Amino acid sequence: MNEYDSEMMAGLLESMGYEPAADQDDAGILILNTCCVRGTAENKVWGLLGRLKKWKRQREGRILAISGCLPQQPGTSTDICRRFPHVDIVFGTYNRHELPGLIEQVIKERRQVNKVWEKEGEIPEEIPVRRQSGLKAWVPIIHGCNNFCTYCIVPYVRGRERSRRPEKIIAEVQELASQGYREITLLGQNVNSYGKDLEENIDFADLLKELDGIEGLWRIRFMTSHPRDFSEKLIDVIATARKVCEHVHLPAQAGSNRILKAMGRGYTRENYLSLVSKIRKAVPGVAITTDLMVGFPGEAEEDFADTLDLVRRVEYDQAFTFVYNPRKGTPAAKMEQLPEDVKSRRIQKLVALQKEISLLKNKAEEGKVREILVEGPSEHNPTRLCGRTRTNKTVVFEGDDVQVGNLIEVRIVKGHLTHLEGVPVQDEEKR
Ligand code: SAM
Ligand code: SF4
Repeated sequence: MNEYDSEMMAGLLESMGYEPAADQDDAGILILNTCCVRGTAENKVWGLLGRLKKWKRQREGRILAISGCLPQQPGTSTDICRRFPHVDIVFGTYNRHELPGLIEQVIKERRQVNKVWEKEGEIPEEIPVRRQSGLKAWVPIIHGCNNFCTYCIVPYVRGRERSRRPEKIIAEVQELASQGYREITLLGQNVNSYGKDLEENIDFADLLKELDGIEGLWRIRFMTSHPRDFSEKLIDVIATARKVCEHVHLPAQAGSNRILKAMGRGYTRENYLSLVSKIRKAVPGVAITTDLMVGFPGEAEEDFADTLDLVRRVEYDQAFTFVYNPRKGTPAAKMEQLPEDVKSRRIQKLVALQKEISLLKNKAEEGKVREILVEGPSEHNPTRLCGRTRTNKTVVFEGDDVQVGNLIEVRIVKGHLTHLEGVPVQDEEKR
């Protein structure tokens, strides 16, 4: 979601006549788009803000701005202004579309502007977005979250659930497809809540069906779906809609019923496991990925063992693993916290187990032929190309006659921990 927000801010800057700078030294405006979901990301921002004092002084007229969910926390924006007088603009997640006016104000008045809306407003539409790729695009469909999981700050800094109007989403995706974008990822903290706040009778599964019919679009992905609201109807659409990819990101967070209850997740490990088997039965070959947390307050050894057990049972293709850290204002922050050494031992164990499983899963791909969308040079080895399977696995390969933006078939020759190596089937035939 933050990546999308950055693309939107870049679009707004371009519409004002600005161009992307080659690097920080070359830049006249610098915006820190922050995230406060985890303490580690937040701490980096405090350090960076201090270091940017020098950058600000180096050239007359430079503008330093900070946005995202960090200043959206109560009291934080005034705190930023007081502690960092070299920051020119502070704005939040609800009013990021106001950026052009705020820049003009700073240029005119040459004084610090602190403008963070306390409440979410209407979803601003028709905002220019400068997308990083010409092939794949993020498309937000629902903003905010109503779930209030006890550890999470998102509902406080991103507001209540607001679904975008279906006709706006459909028009945006049609426009993207006509510009040559081939893959979209629908974004929301819980895409399964889509439509609940709209007048018309439409849910996430209906929206997917509508988007599946858009000509020129090849792949549809979505993130994130809450396990509690994953309907049979949605499983059916993933199984039948041709463009909807066979990948479900299904954050479990924990494997112990006691901890899931304390987190307020609204499902049990049994519900979760049964959902996973239903999805696997209906969508053969589906990849399942997750978010997991260790060290939630009160997590005993046996609770952690339940998380490891869940990971072994589900055999996730990939997992994002986090050490719980208290977020101010959330109920879990007031609970008794676990010692850091316990958290650190648990995360290491969890990461090691998931690595074993991810490698096995990727090795099981060896010999299979997979369709990939060719995205361009590989990040780690620019002499080779890379693309993704429908199950969202990265495939690195060599191919002279391969065009970026095409769908091609590759045979997987080696599975690594983080990616697959492949050979285009068209080249295999030539050999
Ligand atoms: N809406 C998504 C869901 O319900 O799964 C997740 C959104 S959250 C921005 C992304 C991930 O950050 C969560 O799935 C969780 O694992 C992690 N996270 C959230 N709050 C955290 C905290 N206080 N400490 C550590 N990790 C946290
Ligand atoms: Fe946070 Fe829970 Fe909402 Fe996800 S569903 S954003 S974890 S409150």
